[in-house]
Amino acid sequence: MKNILVTGGAGYIGSHTTVELLESGYNVICVDNFSNSSEKVFDVINDLTGKQCTWYNVDVCNIEELNKIVAAHDVNCAVHFAGYKAVGESVEFPLMYYQNNINSTLSLCEVCLKNNVRSIIFSSSATVYGPPQYLPLDEKHSLSATNPYGNCKLFIEQILKDVNVAHPALNIALLRYFNPVGAHGSYRLGERPKGIPNNLMPYICQTALGVRQELRIFGNDYDTIDGTGVRDFIHVVDLAKGHVAAIKKMEADPGCFVYNLGTGNGTSVLELVNTFMEVNGVDVPYVIASRRVGDIAACWANPEAAKEHLGWEAQYTIEDMVRDSWEAQKALGVCT
Ligand code: NAD
Ligand code: UDP
Repeated sequence: MKNILVTGGAGYIGSHTTVELLESGYNVICVDNFSNSSEKVFDVINDLTGKQCTWYNVDVCNIEELNKIVAAHDVNCAVHFAGYKAVGESVEFPLMYYQNNINSTLSLCEVCLKNNVRSIIFSSSATVYGPPQYLPLDEKHSLSATNPYGNCKLFIEQILKDVNVAHPALNIALLRYFNPVGAHGSYRLGERPKGIPNNLMPYICQTALGVRQELRIFGNDYDTIDGTGVRDFIHVVDLAKGHVAAIKKMEADPGCFVYNLGTGNGTSVLELVNTFMEVNGVDVPYVIASRRVGDIAACWANPEAAKEHLGWEAQYTIEDMVRDSWEAQKALGVCT
């Protein structure tokens, strides 16, 4: 597998994965409509890797355009990041989420089948587990969703499994990410949410920068180590390497697979904030606020399956994550 199509390749996880793929010797063809990113990212990627990433400003839902690209590049594998990703926004605009996230996947599947693409790797999420019945979460945990974003992930997982049953020659890897944070070590790529961040790490960074007055910690009365929510934060470069490992796995061993990509460690919101302040020597003013509707108390991965079958294991520490997030935030600035 040499030619890899990356949908959403200009985005946060897609750009880091593109770097890892180019550095591993793959040819990368990115398709992005820049609804949440900028084409400037590709200059950075090419500069960092010394290689040329081919890219197109095309909506993945546009089946004709996508088909032309896949046919022209003799694509072997598609890594599907393109989609909307804000839970709150998905509750407000469910049709927009179903339209974009589901249709882009259907379009990609059709084009992959038409062009004999061998594998699709999909960006799923730990959100598909719903409220944990036990921890750590392994891939056998029951699945549920409570909002349109989560429903999209569940539906798309099922769609891809069904496609694999009907077309076993098209291999599928469903990668369930835990909480991606951090940035490339050059600090030239990173997470740049538009407007007010929903996620914890960008909010911490913007508060440290003085763009936000204070961080609101949503709840300190959970049944956790210090009462604040616990999550499995994973460095985006580790996550990106997980995709390279999944591609290699499918080259050797075809099929339909599901893997957690997490560290296996839970860190509380307060622990993360305190580590951020200590490592970076900056203040992050915070207040305790009420629980955020829909949040679960704690969630972390059992990453053993990925370790055993992909030979992949997260390497970066929480200290690395807070350092890299902060350095990239300072270097890249805020996207308004
Ligand atoms: P992102 O918004 O930074 O990247 C997504 C990219 O897809 C953007 O560049 C956007 O412009 C593009 N895009 C969206 N719709 C498109 C379309 N129809 N056609 C072409 N391009 C389109 O998001 P991210 O954080 O990099 O997430 C990537 C994937 O990983 C998403 O599917 C997301 O749901 C999933 N995921 C993210 C997280 C997280 O916390 N970041 C956690 C679990 C899963
Ligand atoms: N959180 C917080 N303040 C914020 C954003 C998030 O306290 O401004 C908490 C949130 O309640 C959860 C954790 O940080 O316990 C991770 O939230 P995030 O939205 O980053 O990811 P999630 O796990 O919800 O997908």
